[in-house]
Amino acid sequence: MMLRKAVRYRLEPLPEQEHLLSRAVGCVRFVWNRALAVQKSYLDHQCGILSYVDMAKCLTTWRNGESFGFLSESPVHPQQWALKFLDRALKDAFDKSNPKRFPVFKKKGLHDSMRYPDPEQIKIDLRPQDADGRTQFPKIFLPRIGWVKFRKSCVIGGEIRNVTVSHSGGHWHVAIQTEKEVPDPVHPSTTAVGGDRGVANLLTLSDGTMFLPVTTYRDLQKRLAKEQKRLAHKVKFSANWKQQKAKITRLHQRIAEIRKTVLHQVSAAISKNHAVVVLEDLKVRNMTGSARGTAEESGRNIRQKAGLNKSILDQGWGMLKRMMGYKLQWTGGMLLLVDPAYTSQICPVCGVVDAGNRQTQAEFHCLHCGHEAHADVNAAQNILARGLTTSYEVASTAGHAGVVCFAA
Ligand SMILES: [Zn+2]
Repeated sequence: MMLRKAVRYRLEPLPEQEHLLSRAVGCVRFVWNRALAVQKSYLDHQCGILSYVDMAKCLTTWRNGESFGFLSESPVHPQQWALKFLDRALKDAFDKSNPKRFPVFKKKGLHDSMRYPDPEQIKIDLRPQDADGRTQFPKIFLPRIGWVKFRKSCVIGGEIRNVTVSHSGGHWHVAIQTEKEVPDPVHPSTTAVGGDRGVANLLTLSDGTMFLPVTTYRDLQKRLAKEQKRLAHKVKFSANWKQQKAKITRLHQRIAEIRKTVLHQVSAAISKNHAVVVLEDLKVRNMTGSARGTAEESGRNIRQKAGLNKSILDQGWGMLKRMMGYKLQWTGGMLLLVDPAYTSQICPVCGVVDAGNRQTQAEFHCLHCGHEAHADVNAAQNILARGLTTSYEVASTAGHAGVVCFAA
């Protein structure tokens, strides 16, 4: 099995390196935005879109020209990669079977990043020594930037495929993607478990295990609202306003980091203990969509739905599913996805489906045979049963070979 992993380290650039990084990332953003503008004008004139090769030719012209000559002072590969990424985003947007969102212009300070796609150009020195033979901080060589110190918090396992440099929360990070050939893992456990993703509990397993929801977002929500109110009172684009804006960004990033850590812990624990995990194939995007409804059918329960949406986003369901998928693949396990219809209403004893069976958030009480259970555990057991009986197939589009989808 080819094992692909990414590790992320904090960079410690010198002030002049930081300046170069900001410029390089700014150039990548410029190339993306300019290329997108070109493609949009082609689309407006019904001329289709330009191919990646044509766009790369444009980039060469820009780099060699007078007006955008500054681009040539920054590394070229990340700029080409931005074009490749845009090309894929445009193709995805026009994919009839599963259209994705149309690419948007990038704003400064939001997801600032660049990728070095060629591992040949990257060098890593884990134990550099100074003139007196003393060991220094590990360093990574980035073309046009130079040797940059980084905090090596975990091992880089495998051969480097590419490197992404990003700026968030006032710090620079480097993500190193690696791959290595490992023997196919055999999962130490033989158990299968179903998981119900809920609002009251982040995840309830069919064996009764419960994981509490990630409430960080709501806990910090009040503080965020307060800080945002403060922002509204400040003069836009003033020094104070910028400072406040940066504070809010850091708060958002902190919330996201905590959520990610919790989801990593939950998915790691489950994928270690169970060889097969069954989850519902919820379309999280549909569930978190507008509760307002259309003009003809104005939405009901807008308040409740808004709260539910926040909970769903809070808990990062999509992220959990993805993490579970690749972690099970690493351990030799398997993730099964099943149709979510009626899993909370089926009675596992008599098999009757009735909306009245789930009387409250926590209780399941069958109206026909009287069976009682914890509602979430009951749903998880139904999900497990469905996963073990429904025929399934490997989803090639999911990106992870270990992810298996139900066949409708
Ligand atoms: Zn029953």
